[in-house]
Amino acid sequence: NTRVLTGITTSGTPHLGNYAGAIRPSIRASTQAGVDAFFFLADYHALIKCDDPQRIARSRLEIAATWIAAGLDVERVTFYRQSDLPEIPELCWMLTCVTAKGLMNRAHAYKASVDQNLLKQVDPDDGVTMGLFSYPILMAADILMFNANKVPVGRDQIQHLEMTRDIAQRFNHLYGGEYFVLPEVQIEEDVATLPGLDGRKMSKSYDNTIPLFEGGARALRAAVLRIVTDSRAPGEPKDAEGSHLYTIYRAFASTAESAQFRAQLEQGLGWGDAKQLLCERIEQELAPMRERYAELMAKPERIEDILQAGAAKARKLSGPFMARLREAVGLRAPA
Ligand code: ATP
Repeated sequence: NTRVLTGITTSGTPHLGNYAGAIRPSIRASTQAGVDAFFFLADYHALIKCDDPQRIARSRLEIAATWIAAGLDVERVTFYRQSDLPEIPELCWMLTCVTAKGLMNRAHAYKASVDQNLLKQVDPDDGVTMGLFSYPILMAADILMFNANKVPVGRDQIQHLEMTRDIAQRFNHLYGGEYFVLPEVQIEEDVATLPGLDGRKMSKSYDNTIPLFEGGARALRAAVLRIVTDSRAPGEPKDAEGSHLYTIYRAFASTAESAQFRAQLEQGLGWGDAKQLLCERIEQELAPMRERYAELMAKPERIEDILQAGAAKARKLSGPFMARLREAVGLRAPA
């Protein structure tokens, strides 16, 4: 069987990018024969970027409800909250002890912070926590814990997957066994990275997102109206390829519909009308899910039950696996 794994950081309200880039393709993949899917709420990861406890708690609920409303079959997949598995930080520490610091020095997220600090002419490590510095190791623990062999990622995550393979190989070599399967990246060619309202990648931590369900159709519409466009007037031909609206539209439409939208833009469709069409397209797909989402959000205890059951299922694997790893490194087996 193929084991796939996907996590979403609980650092804010889930957005269109999370849906089109992670939730929708992951749920589709999970219904295929021979696929064991592991989907988790990455709340330890959230602590790296967010120190607002209420935001994290709220996000956890919203992201869990989103997965379920989007059609996740909780019986079929293993759906859990990262912090419900004490084995994750334990494995993370074991991996930390075999990871070269030099490897982490090269991680993109860390290097990006250092580069920004150099530009600002402040200490290169200003504002860099050990969480940010070593988070590729936590990600490696997430993946290696379940020996996921296929990890669907965007291009920006390829490096982290390579680091996970490096770390796994090092551990296997040091302790003389095939403890970890080396995971392979699965680049999703037809899954686009959606731009946010300001044109940068749509991201919870940039606060530039179009909310998926929160706030209802009105909030979606209000956000779509705020997407930046160029100043070409109605009647003037638009550059569809270069427009954020078109990129988002394509993620919610068939090839034929996208081609039609593109032609309309090139023939001078006004941005206001284009935004209207985009809203309608998105709504067609999301409206039925939004109802389920609202029902779930009204019953947090139901979500909690699902997460508890998911954690129990995950720990049936992570518990015995951790016991084996403890033995491998010479730690006492847990009682
Ligand atoms: P954060 O800002 O906390 O990192 P994020 O919104 O950027 O959050 P993550 O939680 O890190 O998203 O990512 C969860 C999943 O959603 C990943 O698989 C990621 O590839 C996908 N994803 C995130 N943003 C986008 C986007 N703009 N377009 C497509 N996919 C995205």
